[in-house]
Amino acid sequence: MTVAARLAQMRELIADAASDASRTIDELTLVVVTKFHSAELVRELHRLGVRDFGENRHQEAMLKAEEVSDLDLRWHFIGQLQTNKAKQASQYAHAIHSIDRARLVTSLVGASLPTDAPPIEAFVQVNLTEDPARGGAAPDDVEAIAVQILETPNLQLRGVMAVAPLPEEESPESAFERLRGISERVRTIEPTASAISAGMTHDYREAIAAGATHLRIGSAITGNRPSAR
Ligand SMILES: *Cc1c(COP(=O)(O)O)cnc(C)c1O
Repeated sequence: MTVAARLAQMRELIADAASDASRTIDELTLVVVTKFHSAELVRELHRLGVRDFGENRHQEAMLKAEEVSDLDLRWHFIGQLQTNKAKQASQYAHAIHSIDRARLVTSLVGASLPTDAPPIEAFVQVNLTEDPARGGAAPDDVEAIAVQILETPNLQLRGVMAVAPLPEEESPESAFERLRGISERVRTIEPTASAISAGMTHDYREAIAAGATHLRIGSAITGNRPSAR
């Protein structure tokens, strides 16, 4: 199957899932995750109409963004971000989905964004598991981080983000329902921060049913990742 065919199929599946959830596709942003794949694939996806791309490793994202800097597109940083790399990431990332601690926000306070660039779209990543190593803030810390983002002019609070627990830990349905509840708490602080970044290749249907607005889909569209990197 070609990339074009996989993208077309995914778009149809997303439309079906939206319709099953009585939602419309205009509420959904498809972020195609291109980690481990070449800048050439980004170009091909761009030709096919994709404008939102996701990366989870800073070094790789920075180089790829440079290689396709002639294209009109938006980079979403979705991986764990080291505090000392945050300023560099702010030079290419239009959105950061993985803000999960106060120090990360602090490190972005003084970042000088490219001229005329709007504030970076900021999502507070929530850890839906009990394992602190997974990344994401504990649910009880999310509101404080959201408030801190609201006080940072370089950042625009968009909402929350999460990765589902492993299927044997908890079903994506129930995990994403908890995420929806956390999103509602954030919206009481800032009503416009209504975005929910959730849903990957294997759980986008459950995410759409639970109100996701930003789907982060990789392998279903890009094919298997080139191995061993
Ligand atoms: C890799 C990745 C994705 C995409 O995963 P697929 O299963 O390939 O769709 C989404 N979100 C994050 C945070 C990722 O690291």
